Amino acid sequence: MTRTTTTRLADGRELIYFDDAGSAERPAESLVDRRQLPGRADPGQLRFDALSREWVAVAAHRQSRTHLPPADQYPICPTTPGNLSEIPSADYDVAVFENRFPSLGPAVSEIPATPGWGTAASAVGRCEVVAFTPDHAGSFAGLGWRRTRTVVDAWAHRTAALSALPGIRQVFPFENRGPEIGVTLHHPHGQIYAYPFVTPRAAVLAAAAGEYFAQSDGRATLTSSLLEAERSEGTRMVLEGEHFSAYVPFAARWPLEVHLVPHRQVPDLAALNGMERDELAHLYPELLRRFDALYPTPTPYIAAWYQAPLEPDMRRAGHLHLQLTSPRRAADKLKYLAGSEAAMGAFISDTTPESVAALLRAVAGSETSAAVAGDGASA
Ligand SMILES: [Zn+2]
Repeated sequence: MTRTTTTRLADGRELIYFDDAGSAERPAESLVDRRQLPGRADPGQLRFDALSREWVAVAAHRQSRTHLPPADQYPICPTTPGNLSEIPSADYDVAVFENRFPSLGPAVSEIPATPGWGTAASAVGRCEVVAFTPDHAGSFAGLGWRRTRTVVDAWAHRTAALSALPGIRQVFPFENRGPEIGVTLHHPHGQIYAYPFVTPRAAVLAAAAGEYFAQSDGRATLTSSLLEAERSEGTRMVLEGEHFSAYVPFAARWPLEVHLVPHRQVPDLAALNGMERDELAHLYPELLRRFDALYPTPTPYIAAWYQAPLEPDMRRAGHLHLQLTSPRRAADKLKYLAGSEAAMGAFISDTTPESVAALLRAVAGSETSAAVAGDGASA
């Protein structure tokens, strides 16, 4: 079992250590933040865009956030005498803490249910940082199975805890990797946003999922039907495990795009059982390694966990999955979202999903056989 220990940082933010299964009890000094920190800022603002019916977070205070600090002053490295970091321990496995410069929070509450032009609210919610490893260099793909398994437990734990906070409607774990997509800190880490509203993209997917679920009289989710169709058609499959499979979607929007889907319908990561988590800790890094194997340099990506929003009807029809996307379209070329994509949301792809799937099958990483076998428990 992953060992979980919770404490508070100097300004009251929560910090949770997730130590690998079998690790020793945490030393008491790793629970005490010795820094002097100013009190936490008030939340920014949420404003309602009446034209699109979307909430926009106005977080002017984030302009002062840490941006590529010198290598010995990293906030998510383990604490040393010369660098009292956000994680007051000389060592850790995985650590999660509330973002010091959050777009949402620290307060949580309901927001107006019937907003219109001019509606503003406090930017409530919660933003957390997930430090995947104490090692400054490296990447998620190189964590190894045991550490990845601990990250999966951390995601599940935080999903359950954040879902229970007042007013939260959606919990979104994600990783932005690479300076090409605006990463401001290098140390391998991800984030979790807990929103007080259902995000625009999640709302679109939830509407499609809900309609399909109703038409099937509650017998099948849209995601499971798509997975079944992709598996029998076969040309876009990338990986097939016992509990998860991955494919390039029929209408992929990005130059590189893979969806990793659990075979069993679960609304979120917290609902995955032990065997599913074991296999996920193999298959997910395997996908990341294949992204990196395509080109001589690491591939920037966004790894986005689509969990069912917390509305009851969206839970019934929702089906957890990962959408792993990259704007990289060649060794030295990125796709930029311009007029059609950025303004209209209408994507135009220069690659075919079938050719991308063939490439991702061909560059199988070194741990592929173990990944496909899905024998996580024995790893
Ligand atoms: Zn670091």
